[in-house]
Amino acid sequence: MQQLDAIKITKATTSKKMDVDFNNLGFGNYFTDHMFVADYKDGAWGNAQIIPYGPISFEPALSAIHYGQSIFEGIKAYRMKDGSAAIYRPYENMKRFNRSALRMEMPEVPEELFMGGMKKLLEVDDQWIPHEIEHAMYVRPFMFATDQVMKVMPSLTYKFIIILSPVGAYYAAPMRLLVEEEYVRAARGGVGYAKTAGNYAASLHPFAVARQKGYDQVLWTDAHEHKYVQECGTMNVFFLVGGKLLTPGLASGTILEGVTRDSVVQVAGDLGIPVEEREVSIDELVEAYKAGTFTEAFGSGTAATIAKIEEINYQDFIMTFNPLNQPVADALKKRLTEIRDGILPDTRGWMVKVGS
Ligand SMILES: *Cc1c(COP(=O)(O)O)cnc(C)c1O
Repeated sequence: MQQLDAIKITKATTSKKMDVDFNNLGFGNYFTDHMFVADYKDGAWGNAQIIPYGPISFEPALSAIHYGQSIFEGIKAYRMKDGSAAIYRPYENMKRFNRSALRMEMPEVPEELFMGGMKKLLEVDDQWIPHEIEHAMYVRPFMFATDQVMKVMPSLTYKFIIILSPVGAYYAAPMRLLVEEEYVRAARGGVGYAKTAGNYAASLHPFAVARQKGYDQVLWTDAHEHKYVQECGTMNVFFLVGGKLLTPGLASGTILEGVTRDSVVQVAGDLGIPVEEREVSIDELVEAYKAGTFTEAFGSGTAATIAKIEEINYQDFIMTFNPLNQPVADALKKRLTEIRDGILPDTRGWMVKVGS
């Protein structure tokens, strides 16, 4: 692995923090004073810097805009009880980022940049990491193609950037889902497992159509038969059927491998809840619902951790779940929160301290 020069730091002359109401953050609305940037050219990463957060300029021919070589991650850092800060499972995000990079024919980002840059940036903007309960610092690493030529080919140059957004307690309203049978999120051999910009652009129209029909999100199904469940909106999905937690398996490459999904699977094991990662058909869910054995449903993702599902509509057959009576979802969320907050011992080394 190439040796990187030390990260050069240029501090902002004034802080914007005074202008931000930390009791009203919402999600992704505010950014801290600094950002981490690095450039890839001539086959190597360099120019690693922390600089004031602000605009960057490019020519209109910027290839990322035209051909979409663009990937990202979403991670949370938390203020711990002892005042320190810790990042939730960032190495998993780093590995996923580099899997996305490979699929989009982009260079790998080495640990020194991904982890080194993230930790240093969190140290520099430490005073922005919220102390308020359930608040967090959302960390957004991303990489995009920066060649300015109008050819469909892998860019020779890239920018890797990390920005930080303090976020409030995420109120995950129970979701009403429409089973999607027209549009497709991902097909075998496609880019469903990659956190790449185009996947989100492609989802916006199906989401808008579902919203017009009165639903919050779609429940994606497979591209061939629209029979097997994939994800809900931009979250992985879990169903409690006959006391077992079912979640679509990763083998087909059509499902985004969520870090929260993996955390739920592991923590369910701690709680003695059996988990099956496999193909889950809508027909199986409908039959279980009719038999009274399908009792809970929820989505998982970094933003919300766990978001309950209160309704699933499949061809006008409506399945409903009382969000106030989903004890397994509640127990999983509680345990994940307790590990994150240091109330339970972090036996798996999930929390990575900033400043060490
Ligand atoms: C990011 C994402 C998830 C959730 O992944 P986490 O690592 O748990 O945040 C699920 N589905 C899609 C499509 C995503 O982009």
